[in-house]
Amino acid sequence: MSEFSSIGVESAAAHRFEAMREKLADFLRERRNLTFMEVCGTHTVAIFRSGLRSLLPEGLRLLSGPGCPVCVTDQGEIDIALNLAKKDYVILTYGDMLRVPGSSGSLLELKGQGARVEVVVSAIQSIEIALAHPESEVVFLGVGFETTAPATAVTLNQARQVGLTNLSVLCLHKTVPSALRVLASNPALKIDGFILPGNVTVVAGMDDYAFLTEALGKAAAAAGFEPEEILAALVDLARQVTTGHFRLNAYRKQETPRGGNPVARKLLSEVFDPCDSRWRGMGVIPGSGYRVRKEYARFDATEKFGLSPVSVPNNGCRCGEVLSGVLTPPECELYGTACTPLTPVGPCMVSSEGTCGAWHRFNR
Ligand code: SF4
Repeated sequence: MSEFSSIGVESAAAHRFEAMREKLADFLRERRNLTFMEVCGTHTVAIFRSGLRSLLPEGLRLLSGPGCPVCVTDQGEIDIALNLAKKDYVILTYGDMLRVPGSSGSLLELKGQGARVEVVVSAIQSIEIALAHPESEVVFLGVGFETTAPATAVTLNQARQVGLTNLSVLCLHKTVPSALRVLASNPALKIDGFILPGNVTVVAGMDDYAFLTEALGKAAAAAGFEPEEILAALVDLARQVTTGHFRLNAYRKQETPRGGNPVARKLLSEVFDPCDSRWRGMGVIPGSGYRVRKEYARFDATEKFGLSPVSVPNNGCRCGEVLSGVLTPPECELYGTACTPLTPVGPCMVSSEGTCGAWHRFNR
């Protein structure tokens, strides 16, 4: 019986998995050690959950990257959200943000104390909620990458059409390529290649990542979240490093257009301008965020309420180093002791896509 059968791979597919693993092992025999980063938190969880991690050949090191939207949100940004919640505004957020601790508790704790914090599954729900509460200021926390930013853009577009005056967005959206440029350019990290999030590349386009293979000489491949897609991407990364021919390919069942989704890109450029953004533990990365354009300024919570960045002291959490691939979660001294899924100190332990949470759930 194939080892892959033990992780639920059908016998008809197991020989394909075996062949890919053998190919990977061949490349590793030539190179001895390779370090790849799976950029997206969903990949991290898929690799653990499927059991794939335990079946990878020796010498292959996988690091988790900065692709969990909640995890990269800076603590100062969370503190701004907490301050807004204390003003009796209606705060709308995706669920993963609820339990992330800021300097003075979490949104969930404030909700328990009576703050008007509500979970939404889509940004567009903000319209309905703002219409239902005309007497209240409603603030949507715009968190996430190129995958969620278009929904925020649509919402602001609709809010303008409807003529809403009580809805705004605290725009914390970030873009993945700029962060990868920082990581790929850091020789100390010794990352040989990147598994790119397939869902992000569908929106933003493969071309936005071509600098990795063309300018920086790093291996890169986009992958879906199925184990076979991830394994195929790993083989390609190993091939690129071993042969020295770097070319960005995609391993997804769905089509992955080079130029991304033109409708989403147009919408993003109509509503947002690029701006510098602070990533948790990684500092300010130039051009890595979205700022609401001046045409939509009345929907920008930063403008509307005169908010400015808050700098807060580190609480001992080393999420920034985990997200940069400098540390694995167990190397954080708080992991599994002061910081557990029930007592999270940092977002990487809270988020469903967080690296520390995934290690804690699947690697014990
Ligand atoms: S174990 Fe907790 S404190 Fe340490 S890096 Fe992870 S989330 Fe942050």
